[in-house]
Amino acid sequence: MKKKVKSTASRKSGRTTAAACRAVTLIPGDGVGPEVVGAALAVLEATGIKIEWDRQAAGMSAFRRFGTPVPDALIESLKRTRVALKGPLETRVAEGWRSINVHLRRTFDLYANVRPTMNFDGVHTPFNNVDLIVVRENTEDLYSGIEHEIAPGVVESIKVITARASRRIAKFAFEYARTHRRKSVTAIHKANIMKLSDGLFLKCARAVSESYKSIRYQEQIVDAACMRLVTQPESFDVLLLENLYGDIVSDLCAGLVGGLGLVPGANYGDKGAIFEAVHGTAPDIAGKGVANPIAMILSSAMMLDYLGIPAVGDKIRAATASVLRAGKVLTRDVGGKASTSEVTAAIVRAVSRG
Ligand code: ATP
Repeated sequence: MKKKVKSTASRKSGRTTAAACRAVTLIPGDGVGPEVVGAALAVLEATGIKIEWDRQAAGMSAFRRFGTPVPDALIESLKRTRVALKGPLETRVAEGWRSINVHLRRTFDLYANVRPTMNFDGVHTPFNNVDLIVVRENTEDLYSGIEHEIAPGVVESIKVITARASRRIAKFAFEYARTHRRKSVTAIHKANIMKLSDGLFLKCARAVSESYKSIRYQEQIVDAACMRLVTQPESFDVLLLENLYGDIVSDLCAGLVGGLGLVPGANYGDKGAIFEAVHGTAPDIAGKGVANPIAMILSSAMMLDYLGIPAVGDKIRAATASVLRAGKVLTRDVGGKASTSEVTAAIVRAVSRG
């Protein structure tokens, strides 16, 4: 890795709750989910840590078995463990049930989505010096799901932005920057057009920034930010975004460093967290044994940080970095020919050596 992947331990309140409890809900998910979650389990096992897994179905696989994408047993398990390692879940485009990811994030008030995105030695892309932390608000914006037809051929989708949610995500981003020794936070917006909603988001970010004088605060309009992310990614550090911009910009950031197969993620609330890769179900490669397991493996390392064992998380990050750096066992999305299980086995070996 060009830069060491730093521990992404959560805020103190959440960590205290989680540290006392090593029971974790395991959601294999849909599409490539079971393949990459299986890989993460193998790597976690190689570290020797003991976790009591509570395996639960969700999404399409739960729908097929139980007739619902969100079984009560899943919700009960999450209420008990408050920590989950989760594969991607299928959400149909323009039909069917609302996103289960959105439902879980809102049910457990997991308001902060964090996606560390950085270059890896051994993964060549045209973009260098990428070392970004995407902090995405997770509970509102156009994801509020308030849509209706007001007349035939005319629909409305309501964007909800509140001062409470904007302040708390801004505070999260600055706290993250402070604890991880980051230099700047950039609020990304479209307040020139959405003067009220994005205007409120910015106003809250500015007010919060006043309490963090040692961290540089910047603002940028989302379209200009997308161009600058490609031309000068090194000029950004922590990115603070509303829900929809955060979703789009995090895929852009993943593209800078080699793709969705590499970027981990976490959804934090004050009382729990769900760890998952940025990527979706990847239906085009599901079941073929070629998915890159690294995004999910690095998400599991973020989970260990949260559980209060960052040294073990570091071990997984170092093992993963060494396999990428060696460049011999890579999946095809990052230029190799190896299968999911071959990459997993290489990382397991590196963990065992480490
Ligand atoms: P969903 O609707 O579940 O989000 P999607 O196909 O729209 O599915 P992704 O699943 O994120 O979105 O996939 C986008 C692209 O990235 C696909 O071409 C997919 O094959 C690729 N991709 C995603 N995850 C991985 C992975 N772990 N390894 C390799 N390629 C991946």
